[in-house]
Amino acid sequence: MSAYRLSGWGRPVDLVDVAVPVPRGPEVLVEVKAVGLCHSDLFVMSCDEGVLPYDLPLTLGHEVAGRVVALGDGASSSLLGRDGVVHGVWSCGECHNCRRGQDNYCIALAGRVGCGLGRDGGLAEYVLLPDARHFVTATGVPPTMLAPLADAGLTAYHAIQQHRDALVGECAALVIGVGGLGHLAVQILRATTSARVVASDPRPEACALAERLGAHHAATSVDEAMRLAAAAGLPGADVVLDFVGSDETMRVGAAALVPGGRLVVVGGARGSMAVGKGLDLPLGWQVSAPFWGSRQDLVAVVELAEQGLLEPVIEVVSFGEVPDAYARLHDGGVTGRLVVVP
Ligand code: NAD
Ligand code: ZN
Repeated sequence: MSAYRLSGWGRPVDLVDVAVPVPRGPEVLVEVKAVGLCHSDLFVMSCDEGVLPYDLPLTLGHEVAGRVVALGDGASSSLLGRDGVVHGVWSCGECHNCRRGQDNYCIALAGRVGCGLGRDGGLAEYVLLPDARHFVTATGVPPTMLAPLADAGLTAYHAIQQHRDALVGECAALVIGVGGLGHLAVQILRATTSARVVASDPRPEACALAERLGAHHAATSVDEAMRLAAAAGLPGADVVLDFVGSDETMRVGAAALVPGGRLVVVGGARGSMAVGKGLDLPLGWQVSAPFWGSRQDLVAVVELAEQGLLEPVIEVVSFGEVPDAYARLHDGGVTGRLVVVP
């Protein structure tokens, strides 16, 4: 089968021919129907040797939708022929975080997260899952719409879910960066919270998208977005979802918080900020850096899509167009999510 593999650090993926994997024991073979391209793939490709504990070559692709086509002799037969989406955190299922439903913080992972991130992923015709519990079935949602839910939807949902207690009653959420993750965060906030939604992205088309998806205020800078929010009577943001994660976005994000507000750093732009008492930060603020999402979160995300409450904005590209598509993602010329159909 054809697969896009990373064969060396700091370089793009190569299209190569590899054997179709054969499932054994609890393993499950999924025929890939659609796979989303994530900014994190660019991060992985850009890393120097030694930054990530991954063995190369590695097939990328961690936003995978498809159909179960073969099972190992230890996997339950009920999944055969079912359509759905891959939960890419290939957790151990046994550590105390896994047992309490926080499998995205599985203690046994040690940096090799799973699908396309340490283990062979879905930028290929087939992907082999270590266990059936890494597949979430879905009904009535096309694979091109399901694929972005596996990471963009799930990560946005998990970041919101962790702060749901601050998103009740009169409240506001600021979304910084309305790309693959951010445009789904806007929809999840509108569908599942009472928050007034404020969005910021330097690209006017991303601001227009945020407004179309239900953001109450959107502007090309955080300062301008918060000015619009203030003019509408909002004192600041209870939760800031930073899908960029640069020095600058973390600084302006923290400055937008109300007392007791939460800065949630999701983006991986390698920014940093000083944390301490007596700094110029609101009383009782919190900062967190959530990672991806649990299986339980993915089930909830798929249910939102099945109910028509979550609809990724996608652009479908062919398997041969993957290198160009990554270049466009790198250059910031994408609205919503790029989805590859093998
Ligand atoms: P994307 O390229 O689709 O979207 C990024 C958006 O941010 C773009 O619309 C861009 O215009 C906008 N942007 C850039 N600079 C900005 C600024 N200064 N202020 C506001 N907006 C700005 O990327 P994506 O796939 O949505 O990923 C977003 C980030 O999240 C990436 O860094 C990715 O690596 C990271 N990520 C983290 C997790 C996690 O588990 N924490 C999971 C997936 C992705
Ligand atoms: Zn575990």
